[in-house]
Parts: sequence; structure tokens; C-alpha cells
Amino acid sequence: MVSHSDEGTIGDLVVSVREGKGRVSVLKRYLLTPGPTPVPDEVLLAGARGIMHHRSPEYSELFLRVVGGLKYVFQTSNDILIFSGSGTASMESAVANLLSPGDPVLIASCGNFGERWQKICATYGADATVLEYEWGRTVDPDDIERALAERDDYVALFVTQSETSTGAVNDIETIAEIVRSHPAVLVVDAVSSLGATDLETDGWGVDVVCSGSQKALMTPPGLAFCSVSPAAWALCEKAINPSFYLSWKLARAALALADPQMPWTPPVSIMLALDKALEMIEDEGLERVFVRHRILAKATREAVKALGLELFAGDDPAQSSVTSAVVPEGIDGRQVTRIMRVTYGVTIAGGQGRLDGKIVRLGHCGYFGPFDIITAVAALEMTLRQLGFDCQLGAGVSAAQRVFMEERGW
Ligand code: PMP
Repeated sequence: MVSHSDEGTIGDLVVSVREGKGRVSVLKRYLLTPGPTPVPDEVLLAGARGIMHHRSPEYSELFLRVVGGLKYVFQTSNDILIFSGSGTASMESAVANLLSPGDPVLIASCGNFGERWQKICATYGADATVLEYEWGRTVDPDDIERALAERDDYVALFVTQSETSTGAVNDIETIAEIVRSHPAVLVVDAVSSLGATDLETDGWGVDVVCSGSQKALMTPPGLAFCSVSPAAWALCEKAINPSFYLSWKLARAALALADPQMPWTPPVSIMLALDKALEMIEDEGLERVFVRHRILAKATREAVKALGLELFAGDDPAQSSVTSAVVPEGIDGRQVTRIMRVTYGVTIAGGQGRLDGKIVRLGHCGYFGPFDIITAVAALEMTLRQLGFDCQLGAGVSAAQRVFMEERGW
């Protein structure tokens, strides 16, 4: 079926039909954003199975297997709760279930998703103190130490591991060490980092980790997860903020049934897909998954530098999920992403909020390999040249190739 619009989607392909000229061009599409991310065929096919009933022994088996797979990726033996929803649902569930109105909380924020913690906490009436950093910077753990020393009544600290809007990655291990000697629970948004960057939930002592299905977990959007430590459960017992659909206690009660399940009808197809993706991650092994991400990220950073662009969040090897590049003076970043998408079929992300038009973001979390990076960089080079930027075609590509040849570890 060919759509008679300028752009119609047929599965993986975009078919452009220029009516009247009798010209049909087929443009293959590449999804190279930091979320949603490409999904392996095996995972898509697993999700295409017939629908099973969610109150059945078959579903309980699937559900428990998924919880087990998530525990492996979260590196935890804490409870894992699963919700229908995107990553923000897991963040909102944490605020709703941990806090009561007026509770003092500390938020360390260095981008759009740090601001999301602020907005959710404001929605639930928390008394938030915000450590705010320029977008592109990371949170300074010393500031957290000082803030926690100044007052001992913070009930929670909210922070982001990989700040997807800028690429910056915060040092959760050091932050966790600081928070450990304080009564506050540590809540980490790992929506874009879980499964791409090391996060030792139990090893580092992170109380609550929030994530979602559509990034490094190589699964379609639609599922949200939280890991909950005993200290977080203790805070939850005292919390009086309202929560129903995202109630942790209801999720825990359904998990504890003889036939474990979720309280409400889950997206069964996405659970089936996630089950397959988790199996693939376990087969590859978490450590190898992290190494692959580090190599892909390094190649992307080297390519960006070779093109003469500035890395927006610095040349930090911790940035495993997304690389952001400053768009050269005089070029509108929105044009870059539009031309890449429409002319070359390559979708990368632009800047969010105040960075709209100023940066572009190349994703490499989840189901990515070397030739995804080479594709993105090649299309970026061609687009920048088209927009009049003086860069050498192939400069970025060869820089990425050199990293892949040197590393050979993906
Ligand atoms: N936090 C981070 C770090 C993210 O990258 C995202 C998604 N871009 C979210 C939260 C929100 O997730 P969602 O869009 O799935 O609700």
C-alpha cells in the first residue's frame, strides 16, 4: 500500500510519492534518538503473539520472569513494581507514594528531567529545595553533602542519572555514598540510563530507581518501573499523598498474590516484548552491554569533534546514552533534524526547551551498533554541508570508524 501523501509510512520504510512526476522514491528510515529507540525484530515478534489473559497462570509466569529480568538489570533484590505508562509514570509514582504534602525534599537538577522532578514535587505539594545547575553541567555531589548537612529533615533527594536533554551523566555512586549517612531516601531517574550505564542499585544503596521500557531496554514505550528499598517502603507507609492507579501498595499486594500479577490490565504485548528483550540483555551480559554502550558513545563523541562541533555536555566517558552537539553559529538546529529526517530518513533528536534549535542529540542507548552511529554521523555531515557549514565529508565517519577499529569490543 502506497500512501498518496508526501510521506507515508510502510513499516520500516517511508515512501514518498511525488504525484504527477511519476517518481517514487523509497527512503529507509533510521530511528537514532535517545528514546524511543530501535527495537530488535525478535522483540517485536514476541510482542506480536496472541493476547493472553492477565489473570492467568501463563501471565503470572511471564510477569515473574519479567520482574526477575528487571532485577538483573536494576542490579537489585529490592521489590520491582511495574506500571502501565511511560517513564514519567514511574517518577510520579515515586513522588506520590513517598511523600506527604509539605514534606521537605532536595532536588538536584541539571536539565529538563531534573525540572520534571521539580514539577512533579510541586504538583504533590512538597517543600522542595532545588540545587540547580546550568544545562549541560553535572550535579556537584559536594553541594548535596553541604545541603544535607545544613538540615536533617529532608525525606528524599531526587536526581537524574543520565540527563537526556543535555547528555550529562551524574555521579550516582558518589551521591549515594553521601546520602547513605542521612535519613533521606535517594530516588534516581534512570529512564535513559538503566541498561546503558552502570547503576548498582543495591551495591551503591539507591533506594528508588525509576525507569521505562523504551530506551536501553530495547522495548516499545508503555511500561514504567520502580525498584523500592526497605527504607523507601518505610517512608511509603507514612506518606499520605493520594495515589490509586500508581499506588505502590496496591502493586505490591498484587505481586504478593499466589498468582502474582499487576493490579490493572497490563499492556500484555509489551510485557511479552520486554520479556524477550530482557532475555537478550541477559544473554549479552550486563557488563558487555555497558562496554558496547561506552564504545558507541566514544565513537560518537570523536565523530562530533572531528566535524568541528562542540560537545554540549563535555567529553565525558560516562555519557553512554546520548551525545549532544552544539549546532554551529548561524544554523538552526531544527533545520538539521528536519533535513536529516525528511531527506535522509534519519531521525535524531533536537534540543528540548531552552535548547531548542541550539543542539542536536544522537542516541546510542539500547539496540545500537557501530553502523547506526556511522549512519547518523554520515547524515549529519551531509546535512551540515547542505546548510553551508564547512566540514569535510567523511571526517566524522572516519573518526567513528577508527574508534570501532581500535576497540573491537562491541
Ligand atoms: N527521565 C529521563 C531521563 C528521560 O530521558 C525521559 C524520557 N525522555 C523521561 C524521564 C520521561 O520519560 P517518558 O517520556 O517515558 O515519560
